[in-house]
Amino acid sequence: MQIQAEHVIKFVELVAARVKEQRDFLTQLDSAIGDADHGVNLDRGFTTVLSKLPSVADKDIGSILKTIGTTLVSTVGGASGPLYGTAFLRAGMATADRFELGPDDLVAALEAALEGIQTRGKSTRGEKTMIDAIAPAVDALKAARASGDDLVTAMRKAVAACEEGVKATIPMLATKGRASYLGERSIGHQDPGATSSLLMARAMLEIVEGIS
Ligand code: ADP
Ligand code: MG
Repeated sequence: MQIQAEHVIKFVELVAARVKEQRDFLTQLDSAIGDADHGVNLDRGFTTVLSKLPSVADKDIGSILKTIGTTLVSTVGGASGPLYGTAFLRAGMATADRFELGPDDLVAALEAALEGIQTRGKSTRGEKTMIDAIAPAVDALKAARASGDDLVTAMRKAVAACEEGVKATIPMLATKGRASYLGERSIGHQDPGATSSLLMARAMLEIVEGIS
């Protein structure tokens, strides 16, 4: 199975649509432990990304991802803008000049994205952030591929791990970002960034399932 530039474009279009659908839900989660802007921030960013896609449609995957990353950094704002922006930029660096990716290239790009978020956010697992959704997903994806699963099967396992990761943020104490200002009161709420990461993982699975 090969992932082409058109699939990357379709993925981002799907993410933009889902972010719009879930904007109020994401913002509601952020109102409990943040400043009630996560859905609005992401919707603004991905709407701008959509307007940039026609100008990169014939470019290599790395260039497309880098354009998405720089657009997110400059339009989303908050903590999640630079973090998701960095994730797409790092994935773009890992796929520079490529018009096609095999399954293991995708895994490498996702690993690079996760590393970028951790470096930029100075954060690690267990701090009630998007990392608690993304890191278990990347682990599950790698383990599934190592055991011989095809990409669709591996991605399904990754999404299941991501869902568990999101649930696991509920009892966590936030030690990064705005939610950390609440201290103990951050406990008992689902992290908004982990939730938007799950939205992206589900969109990625849908695109991969559609590639024959
Ligand atoms: P802000 O908190 O600045 O308003 P958003 O509301 O858009 O930004 O995003 C909040 C989300 O960002 C959190 O739910 C969390 O998942 C993520 N986040 C915040 N700080 C960090 C960090 N240092 N590392 C990783 N993720 C973080
Ligand atoms: Mg916020």
